Amino acid sequence: MSTLEPTTPIQYLKGVGPKLAQVFQRKSVYTAWDFLFYLPIKYIDRRELHTIRALPIEKAQSCLVTVQDITVRPMRNRRKMLEMTVSDSTGVAKITFFQFNETYLKRRYPEGKKIVVFGDVKVYKGQKSFVHPEIDDWDDFSEDDASGKILPFYSLTEGLYQKTVRKIFKQNLESLLTIVEDSPLTVRETGDVQIPLKEAFRFVHEPPSDVDVDELNCRTSPYHQRIIYDEFFYLQLGLLSKRFQYAKKQAEKLQLNVELYRSALSQLPFELTDDQKTVLEEIREDFESGKPMNRMIQGDVGSGKTIVAFLASVMMIGSGKQVALMAPTEILAEQHFKNLFPYEEKLDFQIELLTGSTKTKKRDQILYDLEQSKTKLIIGTHALITEDVLFDDLGLVIVDEQHRFGVKQRAQLKNKSKFKDGNKTPHVLIMSATPIPRTLSMCVYGDMDMSLIKNKPKGRQEIDTKVFREKKRQQMYRFIEDELTKGRQAYFIYPLVEESEKLDLKDATLMHQALQNEFKNFKVGLLHGKMKAAEKEAVMQSFKNKDYAVLVSTTVVEVGVDVPNATIMVIEHAERFGLSQLHQLRGRVGRGSEKSHCFLMASYAQSEESQFRLKIMEQTNDGFVISEEDLRLRGPGEFLGTKQSGMPDFRLASIVRDGKLLKASKARAQKVLETDPDLIDPKHAVIKRVLIHRWGKRLDLSLI
Ligand code: ADP
Ligand code: MG
Repeated sequence: MSTLEPTTPIQYLKGVGPKLAQVFQRKSVYTAWDFLFYLPIKYIDRRELHTIRALPIEKAQSCLVTVQDITVRPMRNRRKMLEMTVSDSTGVAKITFFQFNETYLKRRYPEGKKIVVFGDVKVYKGQKSFVHPEIDDWDDFSEDDASGKILPFYSLTEGLYQKTVRKIFKQNLESLLTIVEDSPLTVRETGDVQIPLKEAFRFVHEPPSDVDVDELNCRTSPYHQRIIYDEFFYLQLGLLSKRFQYAKKQAEKLQLNVELYRSALSQLPFELTDDQKTVLEEIREDFESGKPMNRMIQGDVGSGKTIVAFLASVMMIGSGKQVALMAPTEILAEQHFKNLFPYEEKLDFQIELLTGSTKTKKRDQILYDLEQSKTKLIIGTHALITEDVLFDDLGLVIVDEQHRFGVKQRAQLKNKSKFKDGNKTPHVLIMSATPIPRTLSMCVYGDMDMSLIKNKPKGRQEIDTKVFREKKRQQMYRFIEDELTKGRQAYFIYPLVEESEKLDLKDATLMHQALQNEFKNFKVGLLHGKMKAAEKEAVMQSFKNKDYAVLVSTTVVEVGVDVPNATIMVIEHAERFGLSQLHQLRGRVGRGSEKSHCFLMASYAQSEESQFRLKIMEQTNDGFVISEEDLRLRGPGEFLGTKQSGMPDFRLASIVRDGKLLKASKARAQKVLETDPDLIDPKHAVIKRVLIHRWGKRLDLSLI
């Protein structure tokens, strides 16, 4: 065969034909490079294979045996167990299953089949026995030299057998390793990751027999770590290089209009917190740098991001430019508009609202004013990125609750300005609804600068959170009634399960009636996703105006809605919500100076994980802590929500497990780019080539 390239289709590997190539496609393996990265999902310790007689009564032993028969026996309390009798020339042993599919097991393990059993060995009624052990077909391992080794175990799919994958690796590993290009020593960290990448790949596919199997299975072997480091390093190099490229673009240097800015500050009904001031200072420096800002503000719910966005807008407008603020829902866009519109007169610049429900005539007027640069601040929803919306001189793009938008929509808004100089671009400010765990934001938003708002405005009290069971419902109602009597307001939230939206609606509607009966002296409102935008807005407005004391709602209320007088949050079926969402919902209260309470109504039948979630909610109000836990529980994909969230799918690396390596690789990538931002130094030729191969397209890199 001719030499392999990373992009060589796998059907050209020895032992892989067109048919097998198709099977591999189902595993997203297309090229030689993909195949090299088709790493074992676990390792099987076959170094010592015992006979039944010699089998030690200990943890984790294996032996080679033949299936004799399978019987199902009744146990007490009407349950059943399945017993498999196995033997070798030295004796007989039992394998017991308490959960089983009889038909399947009988078909899979007919009499006479040779199997390798791996598990803890116990003695039961005088016989050596395994309970729910791992069982592998001897056929899969019966290559001559299988025993005495640690064997890699690959993920399979229909038509793909363990034996086959192992064989292909055996035949091709040497030539596959020729496509591995190692980065120069200077960009590898000291210590473990100095291992040449080739060696690392060889090791993980063909581990020597004298290593610790646990280390392999936990991916903590130095060789695994080397590959993980490599995955992280190139992503970080890609993201940071984007950042370096972006910084080369120009934006107009802003001259702060001090008078306007001071005037805006003096109109605020409160003092800015130190964190808010710091963030504004960072933004101001960006504006004055002559380079486009690309910054994300992370802050807990209720930490006061909106006002920072507004003051950033004022800086921009003060120098004559326009600002667009995009929010994910109409309720939220309207809320921003209502909050900010009063400044129109005070500060003397035009502010408009553009959403899907804006009437055509009004819309035409707005579009005209935007093109004429009469409107300085436009607040809106997705409606802002429709084609006919054009700006005269868009200086700043702000995206609120960014996780609801795709990367593409943000870019669309950014491209709205018509700069004569193609190198110029507006500043971008993105606001995250919740704190994003650091490791995650390094991998997804590594090309942006981060500003954190850690502390909430003064005078806020911790929200008291308690899990409640159904039998205590009345007790909770009495407590709430007392609070309502004191003039406070309460939310009742129902989960929205997508498959049965109707059902939830019924839940919320029924609850609305029940609560109205319960709290006879107070008005109870209802808000749900099926209502028209105008209706929703009217209900929300009534709640804000205190016409309603209680608001029953599905999760539509989740996004940034702000009613400081509401101090009670009841979340029904709390066990159905994820941690971040619970925290977001809870964040609707605790926005004023009064003590707030959050009741998590949960049923008894809960998984351990949901109990853990509720416990965390009781224990902490800190969004930064909660988001870390949520990431640990659900993994990055789920945490970020949408599929197109931009989270790279690592083959081996895990941002939860390998945070240290991630940080090390970032530091190293930064060093490389600081000395050679365009990667033109010949000693970086290899890493540049690898970078473009791996991330060029996906990160839209403009290196040449
Ligand atoms: P979020 O960060 O969740 O978007 P908001 O911007 O909606 O939070 O702010 C929450 C509430 O806090 C609003 O009522 C806002 O007016 C108020 N707020 C913001 N900054 C301060 C401050 N420095 N002092 C007091 N209240 C503030
Ligand atoms: Mg907000």
